[in-house]
Amino acid sequence: MIEKALQAANEQQEETVREVFRAAGLLWQCKSRNCLFDNTPSDLLCAGCGRQRDGRRVDDRIPASAHPDDFENLRAELKEYFARTGTKLPDAVTFELNFEKEWRRYDATLHFGARTETHDFDSDVDRALDGLGRAEERGERLRVALYR
Ligand SMILES: [Zn+2]
Repeated sequence: MIEKALQAANEQQEETVREVFRAAGLLWQCKSRNCLFDNTPSDLLCAGCGRQRDGRRVDDRIPASAHPDDFENLRAELKEYFARTGTKLPDAVTFELNFEKEWRRYDATLHFGARTETHDFDSDVDRALDGLGRAEERGERLRVALYR
């Protein structure tokens, strides 16, 4: 619907159409002045530049079920992994839960600015993920910033 409305609008109308969609909560605009990309509600990070919805650089999401020490251990393990494998260090890594509410080492998302890649990690990272324990709820999120 958003795409159709934008296609139907001429240049002068387009900004108005965007404003209407933003006001209705159907688009959220990136807070970065250099970006200002319009994202849909399902986008957790800006598709234009990779920033968070609050305008900050992609940052940690520590699951409620995880101890901060175990989270720091995972961060250290990830940095070591990228150094060891000679892979370019991403800004951050996002992990998903499996059906047993355990963090999966595979199908993780690497964030390089706005660009993302999926990646499967090895058993060392798996052990660090195990250290976090099971999530209490399916909605928990795990993202580790690696520029810190
Ligand atoms: Zn942006």
